[in-house]
Amino acid sequence: MKTRRDFLKTSAGAGLSAAAVAGAQPLMGAPAILLRRNSPVAVASSNGLESVATAVGVVEGGGDTLDAVVQGVNPVEMDPNDTSVGYGGLPNADGTVQLDSSVMHGPSRGAGAVAALEGVKMPSRVAVDVMRHTDHVLLVGKGAQRFAISMGHPIEELLTERARRRWIEWRARMSDRDDYLTAEESGYPPPPPPPEDEGDEVDLFDSHDGVRPHGTINCNVVNREGDLSGVTTTSGLAWKIPGRVGDSPIVGAGLYVDNDVGACGSTGRGEAVIKTCGSHSVVELMRAGMAPQDACLEALRRVVRFCVAPRLQDEQGRPNFNVNYYAVNKNGEYGGAAIWSGAGFAVCVAGDARREDSAYLFERSG
Ligand code: ASP
Repeated sequence: MKTRRDFLKTSAGAGLSAAAVAGAQPLMGAPAILLRRNSPVAVASSNGLESVATAVGVVEGGGDTLDAVVQGVNPVEMDPNDTSVGYGGLPNADGTVQLDSSVMHGPSRGAGAVAALEGVKMPSRVAVDVMRHTDHVLLVGKGAQRFAISMGHPIEELLTERARRRWIEWRARMSDRDDYLTAEESGYPPPPPPPEDEGDEVDLFDSHDGVRPHGTINCNVVNREGDLSGVTTTSGLAWKIPGRVGDSPIVGAGLYVDNDVGACGSTGRGEAVIKTCGSHSVVELMRAGMAPQDACLEALRRVVRFCVAPRLQDEQGRPNFNVNYYAVNKNGEYGGAAIWSGAGFAVCVAGDARREDSAYLFERSG
């Protein structure tokens, strides 16, 4: 006679029968996504307009989906004028630039990531090396840097003059009780700003999102065959506590790719994304049949639900920060959503790269 244990063993070996999973959406369930289209699509954060065009170009030329998104974001990592990603990123509280990045390659189910990495301009490439050349997924800090050196990445100063000046100013404005002086306090005129900083007004304490300056690039692509990959790369939150790691290098938070379903990445307040397993949630909601934009909105509702600390709420109890999700499914359907109105994302469909408005939960007033 078959025991219950035998039955479970057989079920596990053969895969759960349809009857066994009826009414449930197990994580390994059959994907709700059926491949219907074959034109590549890339979706990215709003700073990724060129990235989506590059990513689609690479897959159209027969390139691999992961090479496509990494090549897409590399110029943004190398851009000294983008103070939220790679070289030129704003530093931590000590004045050191620490970078986070993750990659996922759908067809091979591969993942690689680095966190709090110092001295490497393109951390996404080190994340790829972690995936390709190690049995691990995430390397951090000094170990990540030593690994990067072993893979031939040059170690360079990432703090640009522009980022250093902003950090100096932030440090001086932090408190009127320490020994660091602002220009007004010293009464001695500050050195003239470098030409690239002229007319560049930045609030060192408050970005337009209600939190300190921050930013990230995420880029995801699906090719003609329905294979997917994604990358997220950032210098994270400006002036962070040294060693702070955001969502970007956390698989399932700042990035998630399941080649059966779709890909998603995030920007915005990383702590909120980590606590709600953001990108993974979006991909699972797409697996359950939701369109990408709806899945992004639903995952954002969970972020709002988790936002109970008064310090993180506005006067109406809503989050005083923003989170953005960018998603594409295996069919090439895509969407972007944010907690607050006014956000956008980049997309490239049928060779046309453009920005679109993100869906949102709350309308910003004014
Ligand atoms: N998500 C990033 C972090 O928390 C920052 C951002 O995207 O603005 O590190």
